[in-house]
Amino acid sequence: MVKLFLYNTLRRKKEEFRPIKKARAGLYTCGPTVYNFAHLGNLRSYVFADLLTRILRYNLGLTNVKWVMNITDVDDKTIRNAKMKYPDLEPRASLKKFTAEFEKYFWQDLAALNISKPDYVTHAADEKYINKMKNLIKNIFTSGYAYVKDGSVYFDVIKYGQKYKYGQLAEVDVSKLKPGVRVDADEYGKDNAQDFVLWKGRKENEPSWDFELNGQKLPGRPGWHIECSAMAEAELGTPFDIHTGGVDLKFPHHENEIHQSVVGYKVKKPVNYWLHNEHLLVDGQRMGKRFNNFYTLKDLAARGINPLAYRFLCLQTGYGKVMNFTWEALKAADEGLKHLYNQVKELRITNHELRIKDINVNFKKKFLEAVNDDLNMPRALAAAQELFKSDLASQEKLATVLDFDKVLGLNLASPESGCDKEAPAEIKELVNQRERARQEKNWPESDRLRAEIKKSGWNVEDTSEGQRVSKK
Ligand code: AMP
Ligand code: ZN
Repeated sequence: MVKLFLYNTLRRKKEEFRPIKKARAGLYTCGPTVYNFAHLGNLRSYVFADLLTRILRYNLGLTNVKWVMNITDVDDKTIRNAKMKYPDLEPRASLKKFTAEFEKYFWQDLAALNISKPDYVTHAADEKYINKMKNLIKNIFTSGYAYVKDGSVYFDVIKYGQKYKYGQLAEVDVSKLKPGVRVDADEYGKDNAQDFVLWKGRKENEPSWDFELNGQKLPGRPGWHIECSAMAEAELGTPFDIHTGGVDLKFPHHENEIHQSVVGYKVKKPVNYWLHNEHLLVDGQRMGKRFNNFYTLKDLAARGINPLAYRFLCLQTGYGKVMNFTWEALKAADEGLKHLYNQVKELRITNHELRIKDINVNFKKKFLEAVNDDLNMPRALAAAQELFKSDLASQEKLATVLDFDKVLGLNLASPESGCDKEAPAEIKELVNQRERARQEKNWPESDRLRAEIKKSGWNVEDTSEGQRVSKK
């Protein structure tokens, strides 16, 4: 047994991962705000969450990990942009239509990067979750930590700080907090820490839901922070094991999530491990829509760069370190990936069958020790290179490196031929899942996936080159 260590922001140190339920893991990732295309910085945080999930599955088995991701489809930014794009539609219909478009692009981007689809995807604007949010707000109010002001509901941070620790993920100077000073915006800085909004009173021409609190009618919509607390609880319960997001989410978003769940769900520690990926930078500044310094996967396509080269680039830097984006570095990663594909291709020359028993245990252990050391992917990639250089038989090397690819996710089994170029993202995802099932020798699951692929109008064939997909 190789132990898994993760850097926990809550305690600011690497800790051994001890799940709540033996050999199982539940994790929640703050999903995208679907008001624009995801940029490479955003995508870095989903490559990280995907790696973490794959590593958990590599340790615990495919079905013992439950990964939940939300889609933020109601917040300040989505509402603002939906109003601009579809001004004539009824506000909720406009928001739905607008966010659905960007959500579709988001899943396409994830598929291009071989990021597995989370087991559960929750939509903040879904009535089912809005009801959970309303209930959580009611609980917070009943516990005495929320108040109503001008049709909105706010969280009382001073009162919270008198009983609980304020500033668990980020140091906050509590002496600067002023009673009764409120912030309505979803995003604000540490210097601006104040009572934050749980439920925003209705504004003209904006989407809203009915809400009644303490006999008062308060039509409006949820604040951003309450969304994640309620959706994570709905799918994972509280407490749960792991919560991920980019470092910018530590404060206020994640800090507020903790406060809300502590008093609303009455749990001391709603999440055991908080993991944060560092930023992708451009010329020393964080890549971000508001800085107008961002690139998307479309920019890669325009330059003929394989999106997986970006995944490979991300693997070369620890998730907890800032990474500076340059086209030179990406092109070098593209070349590096081609080289890796060639290395795998050379092993295939003998055209032998893939067998689990050919996986080399010593190299597997080396790889596992690397990935289990807080996702040390540079070390894991070095183990793969060491494997290529070793004097093992080519079928052992091949079986071992394809086993590593369950975590790396670089399509090493079928760089060009595995997925028909025309197959849509959902089909490719099923094929990838089937590849993993086959490597696990989970034949019933492999057959089930084949049937599912077939039902969607595609055939899958097992060849010595891996799976080949074609239209029925
Ligand atoms: P958003 O769609 O703005 O809600 O952000 C989605 C995810 O991307 C969050 O986890 C952010 O923390 C993360 N993120 C935003 N900008 C960057 C960046 N430049 N580098 C890495 N992660 C980022
Ligand atoms: Zn969130």
